[in-house]
Amino acid sequence: MTLSLTLVQGAYIVAGLLFILALAGLSRHETARNGNRFGIAGMAIALVVTVLAATGGVDAGAGGVDREGSGWAGLALVVVAMAIGAVIGLDRAKKVEMTGMPELIAMLHSFVGLAAVLVGWNSSYETTAYPAIHDVEVMVGVFIGAVTFTGSIVAFLKLSARIRSAPLMLPGRNWLNLGAIVAFVVLTVVYVLLPADAVAVRATVLGVVTLVALALGWHLVASIGGGDMPVVVSMLNSYSGWAAAAAGFLLGNDLLIITGALVGSSGAYLSYIMCRAMNRSFLSVIAGGFGVEGGTVSADVDYGEHREVTAEGAAELLTSARSVLITPGYGMAVAQAQYPVADLTAKLRERGVDVRFGIHPVAGRLPGHMNVLLAEAHVPYDIVLEMDEVNDDLADTDVVLVIGANDTVNPAAAEDPTSPIAGMPVLRVWEAAHVIVFKRSMATGYAGVQNPLFFRENTQMLFGDAKDRVEDIIRAL
Ligand code: NDP
Repeated sequence: MTLSLTLVQGAYIVAGLLFILALAGLSRHETARNGNRFGIAGMAIALVVTVLAATGGVDAGAGGVDREGSGWAGLALVVVAMAIGAVIGLDRAKKVEMTGMPELIAMLHSFVGLAAVLVGWNSSYETTAYPAIHDVEVMVGVFIGAVTFTGSIVAFLKLSARIRSAPLMLPGRNWLNLGAIVAFVVLTVVYVLLPADAVAVRATVLGVVTLVALALGWHLVASIGGGDMPVVVSMLNSYSGWAAAAAGFLLGNDLLIITGALVGSSGAYLSYIMCRAMNRSFLSVIAGGFGVEGGTVSADVDYGEHREVTAEGAAELLTSARSVLITPGYGMAVAQAQYPVADLTAKLRERGVDVRFGIHPVAGRLPGHMNVLLAEAHVPYDIVLEMDEVNDDLADTDVVLVIGANDTVNPAAAEDPTSPIAGMPVLRVWEAAHVIVFKRSMATGYAGVQNPLFFRENTQMLFGDAKDRVEDIIRAL
């Protein structure tokens, strides 16, 4: 079936608007479900129209250049490829744990990068009305795609502990990166100047750029420590968006350009937010460890003795409290404690206790990790607040429950300028009257630094698996 160009462009505008609504919806709990629906609808329209236009052809009307379709054979190939992809995708999405999400996303980005490289190579053999611009588009598309491809593979390998996560510190590593970028620029100029019939030389130049970009992507991400990897994944998300936008230029597909730019800019902004919340330099993360001096873990300091509490003692404290703040962290995800935490919240609220949640922007292992878990357990959205919304009233809070969180509540970040996490914004839970910390041992958190909170006068440790201990408290109430 041949589609009219107006119909195709109209459908693309609708899909583009739906993607923008999806992004807007996903920024708040209350609207996230609808945001997802908008995204699904936009993607369905985009897929159907693109496949029909590519296989049935496009009628550009009077004065326009019609596009021929690939016919039934093309349609059959696309449908088979989509079916295989859908089966694998559904299987992976069903099996993945929330904590394994960053590595799944890294793997998916590598496919976007690879697709951009293939589209670039394919387009390099096409003739167009503006060859110089087209040549630059080919080079940029292949370069960004190849960097994204190998960068995402290294991120996947590091996150899934298949290779060591320590940063690779090659001597002169920043010069290597800079050299790769200069080589790319010079080779792009050479490529544009080469005559169109020098097919073999052009393919060789493109091949060299592909290899340089593959090596650069590998090196950029290999130079970054495992701790910064989730920020890198979000940065690669941004690169994959720009790679898709470059492919959109090559394929003359406006929707791919719009969608790529949306992914590119939102990914870059998310990386910036994460860097700010972890007090990392944005530049050092995107430039592959540039300026990283490798933070040191402070020497063993004697913080004194910690105090312990039983589940019964905690229940007693909670029943006499007027205001309770719960701040969850990675340990809540590990213990899958969100369901008992939701039950405990409901029970305390029935007794008239004012219960709120304070969520640190990087609590857990991916942005929004805690919000998703709490929403899954049906904790009301209006009591789930962000760090900045609760920090100022912590001094008026009776009891804080720190459930499997550590770095995000570490006072050293705010008070000790020599701490490796100095400057990282944290929840000032130590200002509350009582703090109960749920964890299994005195072990450190993700950043590997000791937490002086555990030794404060007003802090009591409740050891054990967070899910079991919260259930014990519910029984004791
Ligand atoms: P942390 O990793 O600092 O601490 C988690 C705590 O949970 C540990 O101290 C651990 O102690 C405890 N824990 C683990 N399993 C259980 C269990 N089953 N029951 C009870 N406790 C448990 O987590 P936070 O969420 O506080 O901080 C997140 C860290 O991750 C930050 O350093 C952040 O920078 C980093 N990060 C976050 C990203 C994000 O996007 N959210 C991305 C990249 C990094 P114990 O072993 O003693 O039980």
